[in-house]
Amino acid sequence: MKTIKDYDLNNKKVIIRCDFNVPIQNGVITDDTRIKESLPTIKYAVDNNAKVILLSHLGRIKEEKDKQNNSLLPVKERLSQLLGMEVIFSKYTHGDTLNNLVLALKPKDILLVENTRYEDLDNKKESTCNDELSKYWASLGDIFINDAYGTLHRAHASNVGIAKYLPSGIGFLVENELTKINDFLKEDTHPYILIMGGKKVSDKITLIENLINKCDKLLIGGAMAFTFLNALGYDTKDNIVDKENLTFCKNILNKYPSNIILPVDFINEKGENIPLNRLNKDIALDIGASTVELFQKELSNAKRVIINGPMGMFEDKRYQNGTKKLYTYLYENNIKTLIGGGDTAASANILGFKDKFYHISTGGGATLEYLEGKPLEGLNVISHE
Ligand code: ADP
Ligand code: MG
Repeated sequence: MKTIKDYDLNNKKVIIRCDFNVPIQNGVITDDTRIKESLPTIKYAVDNNAKVILLSHLGRIKEEKDKQNNSLLPVKERLSQLLGMEVIFSKYTHGDTLNNLVLALKPKDILLVENTRYEDLDNKKESTCNDELSKYWASLGDIFINDAYGTLHRAHASNVGIAKYLPSGIGFLVENELTKINDFLKEDTHPYILIMGGKKVSDKITLIENLINKCDKLLIGGAMAFTFLNALGYDTKDNIVDKENLTFCKNILNKYPSNIILPVDFINEKGENIPLNRLNKDIALDIGASTVELFQKELSNAKRVIINGPMGMFEDKRYQNGTKKLYTYLYENNIKTLIGGGDTAASANILGFKDKFYHISTGGGATLEYLEGKPLEGLNVISHE
């Protein structure tokens, strides 16, 4: 697959699809991680004398009033600050004003185009990968670089559509994510352990199916554990059970009886440590102390660990202990750990493990689909040698 480095960018109009989908409250960016992560590719294009055109989506645009809170203008300001240079902004996602701004670009100029999803107000053109829009955007540039890892699993005009009409490649962020995940999966060291948590079993079925026979053990925490425990016959009463997937859980437990490790105790709403047989009386919001110990024992010789899903409701300090203890154990024992999933990555960052693991993947859905073994739409269309 081609990367940005395979092209001569000198004096070329290079369209870079970024992921500037950052949280914004009252016009203020509350977390600029995604902007910072886009800098290496943008800087490389500038250093190589490209005329840089940046595209990104931000939030969802369903009606006219959604535009106001989802403008990329705050991103333009932040990006200018981070790069230490002026970034030109187009308020329009198509038309003469945008065309003229592109024509006026000089090498090393950067033009940020307004939220690509503004085009969704016109028959969802962006999100349905409308061909006319894809061709139009492609006509603005000479080369297309996809560096938006978080949307690689979606086929939109601004990531898949344009790539059909231009020589294309991936940027450094996408390349790094793929290399990290590929190397991890290729390594074939054991014990290889999958830790899953979070809320819904339905979100994770394909991942379990794809990885259960590759990994040596599957440790299950979070609210997901209740469906598995229920499938084993425990009375879980008011705890979240995904009824539609009880059969799936039963089957997988039957097929891999010694590979799946479930919690043996929990933390209830009041913060008390409760045993399994109290699940019919209490709501459990984190794994308990014995479970932490059990999981640590299972991890003691681990060579590789994938985590998707926190062990408890980590957003509340009272219920983050299980997740935190496991992260600490993995970090202190130097175990190669790959974290995937939007909330799981957030939990690692919030709990103080930002740069402490082998890799914390930035793309929630994209990483999960990649780990599930699905081809990523955004990659399928990138030029090959
Ligand atoms: P990811 O986005 O990484 O794939 P999920 O969305 O599957 O992860 O799960 C994250 C959510 O699961 C968090 O919001 C967390 O609060 C919730 N969660 C984990 N354990 C519990 C629990 N015991 N009860 C309620 N919610 C839980
Ligand atoms: Mg989530």
